[in-house]
Amino acid sequence: MPAGRYAPSPSGELHLGNLRTAILAWLFARTTGREFVLRIDDLDRVRPGAAEGQIADLAAIGIDWDGPIVRQSERLPGYAAAVTELTSARLTYECFCTRREIQQAATAPHGPMGAYPGTCRDLTEDQRAQRRAEGRAAAIRLRAEVAEFEITDLLHGRYRGAVDDLVLRRGDGIPAYNLTVVVDDAAQDVDQVVRGDDLLASTPRQAYLATLLGLPIPSYAHVPLVLNPEGKRLAKRDGAVSLSDQRALGHPPEDVVAAIAASLGYTARSTSELREVFDATRIPEKPWILEPSGLFRPDRCP
Ligand code: GLU
Repeated sequence: MPAGRYAPSPSGELHLGNLRTAILAWLFARTTGREFVLRIDDLDRVRPGAAEGQIADLAAIGIDWDGPIVRQSERLPGYAAAVTELTSARLTYECFCTRREIQQAATAPHGPMGAYPGTCRDLTEDQRAQRRAEGRAAAIRLRAEVAEFEITDLLHGRYRGAVDDLVLRRGDGIPAYNLTVVVDDAAQDVDQVVRGDDLLASTPRQAYLATLLGLPIPSYAHVPLVLNPEGKRLAKRDGAVSLSDQRALGHPPEDVVAAIAASLGYTARSTSELREVFDATRIPEKPWILEPSGLFRPDRCP
């Protein structure tokens, strides 16, 4: 059954921006007859107990999901199989560069800014053996055959973006986000990806990777973020930005849902009420700028 999803990284508490994106992903899925799945992206940046807290917060704001919650740390064989498949198709190579070497090297001549310059792309077997003998850990990179790829996004329309020789498996053996997200979305039947627009620039890489792996490309909707008054992505230091912070101030989860609904142009106190009125073609294009004390000002309703 086709599904939408929310895939938090368990690095801390979900803040209002995360909760708003989760609500949007849930609304998109539930109003288009899809299932909704939760995945915990726990290969990196894990804080003990954070996943449990995030799951509890999502439930508290009225998000429900189908099937078991998937954790990426339990899916390592699937990522290894994808790397093997690409390697068999001669679409990977070992990269021995350190982060510093990459930063110091010039960008690839025809590549996008910051793209991997291809230092290790054409090493001979002898050169590789020498680097291994030096004790250098090898990352696995994609041997990309395009420099750009185009995707279609519900909010951004046609979006063309850079594809470089992205890392598939890091030097420490951990599979890289761009690979895991592609493998997991396909494995979970996710055909609708709704997430923050900070990830839009990575999407052409992911869609290209999906085509190489013979996997379907999902539909995308990259939704605006919640920003602080300086225009920076919302963070913990921006004040009372989590459900527990708001509870401590006497605002139950329904108040937070109401504020998020208002930021989307709706009057609703629960996700089920919101579901009744949600119109995916009317997502605000601008980020929601959250003033420090602005969440529950009586005048902030649309
Ligand atoms: N786990 C990623 C994050 O929290 C999101 C992955 C995705 O939605 O593709 O930034």
